[in-house]
Amino acid sequence: MSKKKKSAAKKPGVRREKLARRGLMFVLSSPSGAGKTTLTRLLVQKEENIELSISVTTRKRRPSEVEGVHYFFLTREEFEKLRDAGGLLEWAEVHGNYYGTPAKLVEKTIARGKDILFDIDYQGTRQLYKKAASDVVSIFILPPSIAEMKRRIRRRAAEDEMTIKKRLETAKQELPRWKEYDYVVINDDLDAAFADIHSILQAERMKRVHKTSVAAFAKKLQAKL
Ligand code: 5GP
Repeated sequence: MSKKKKSAAKKPGVRREKLARRGLMFVLSSPSGAGKTTLTRLLVQKEENIELSISVTTRKRRPSEVEGVHYFFLTREEFEKLRDAGGLLEWAEVHGNYYGTPAKLVEKTIARGKDILFDIDYQGTRQLYKKAASDVVSIFILPPSIAEMKRRIRRRAAEDEMTIKKRLETAKQELPRWKEYDYVVINDDLDAAFADIHSILQAERMKRVHKTSVAAFAKKLQAKL
């Protein structure tokens, strides 16, 4: 390709980036063992304009987890204090532990045009829809089979038999919730599932409702016609 053609092909993209948009609240949910955590991490690694919301939880820290990276680990009392002071955008009890999204940063981040990625359950997703439906895009991830789901749960060495049993029981409640989500992705192949999620993110970013400055831009065009 000649130099001239290269820059001509690049220009529209550069211009498009200048059109401001509101960030998305991009939600991934699934029962345990569907591979959601891996997909979440991949998205954050490969996508620049998205930030992971770090939840607070009363669950015990797993040896592989780092405070402030995977979760902020709180006592039940600390969690309740934060929740009662209005510090959580949403919260839920999952597998007998509390989990919640700190409200701080979320509104600021999406107002700056940056997307936020939430790894939360269906109860939290419902609360986000109640509070900010037009900002939320939700994906439910399904495992390829129950056998594979069980295998993935068991592979997590840190979990004891009681915890595994609890997670399988919770999965029974969680699995039918796929109907409440905008999109459903079956994680039978990590690369393919990631490609699906990435395509959804790209398309949702282009939606008229999320491109806040399109109205002003179109008005200008119309005025000149
Ligand atoms: P885990 O203990 O495996 O890290 O997470 C258990 C479940 O809690 C997962 O389904 C995860 O999506 C959900 N979860 C994690 N953080 C939050 C949160 O802030 N709010 C809600 N509602 N669910 C969460």
